[in-house]
Amino acid sequence: MTCLRARILAPVAALPLLLVGCSAASDDGEVQIAVTAYPLQFIAERVAGEAATVTNVAPAGTEPHDLELSPSAVTSIVTSDVVLMLSGFQAAVDDTIGEVGEETVVVDAADSADLLEEGHEDEGDHDGHDHSGVDPHFWLDPLRVADVADALAAALTETDPDGAATYEANAASLRTDLETLESEFATGLADCADRTFVTSHEAFGYLADAFELTQIGIGGIDPEAEPSPARVAEVLREARDAGVTTIFTQPGGLTAGADAVAEELGLTLATLDPIELEPQGSDYLAAMRANLAALHEGLQCS
Ligand SMILES: [Zn+2]
Repeated sequence: MTCLRARILAPVAALPLLLVGCSAASDDGEVQIAVTAYPLQFIAERVAGEAATVTNVAPAGTEPHDLELSPSAVTSIVTSDVVLMLSGFQAAVDDTIGEVGEETVVVDAADSADLLEEGHEDEGDHDGHDHSGVDPHFWLDPLRVADVADALAAALTETDPDGAATYEANAASLRTDLETLESEFATGLADCADRTFVTSHEAFGYLADAFELTQIGIGGIDPEAEPSPARVAEVLREARDAGVTTIFTQPGGLTAGADAVAEELGLTLATLDPIELEPQGSDYLAAMRANLAALHEGLQCS
């Protein structure tokens, strides 16, 4: 559980600050990696293996877009040896990252994930946009995850040269798993009656791009920018008219009465997990396979 990890690890990670001031934690021989969201935690844990300790500074159950950093989370970031973050995703992290010292290596996933512009077709309809126009959700494309893992392995090697072979082997093993996942998606979504999918949170642009699907987002890229009931009803009606039969919601369900409208229009509801939070009782790879199964059924693929 992220909950327990975050609450227990944060005070422990704060200790080096109390004992040795602001020097990096590498002094005690244990490489410390701070991450700011679950997908980055998954990458860091796989690449680090037993060779480093990963601390997710995000409190459990909080949308990572809205992350607020506690004092102990800030301490975890500034005292870590390596920080894996994604610029333009979490304003609180962007504000804090300037405070880390020279001994901390900052790995910005944006440098290796080849981020896409966000794919809105009707900008005017969305309220509350405060992001840069780049879509942060790169982890919904397995191969981009592998590229970020390689970048992290290189940074860890810089910090801990003795672990170089371990980090490289771990990143290679993760890439193999991700390439397998990618080929399962490519095969599973090759022949579908529908290639358009409607989602509540517009988080699946990378998945759509990688597998030649079209995403229609009811809400925006930022899940807090909640659509009006009228917007929801309009999108669902358009979806039905386009022959879409399934509406994908994220765990936690639809907002703005969309489930009632979906029912009224005879649309099926299914779950597509943006994997922003640690999946309950599972992990990134299993959650992606559940997403593939939901798409395979909802888009009527053979
Ligand atoms: Zn999101």
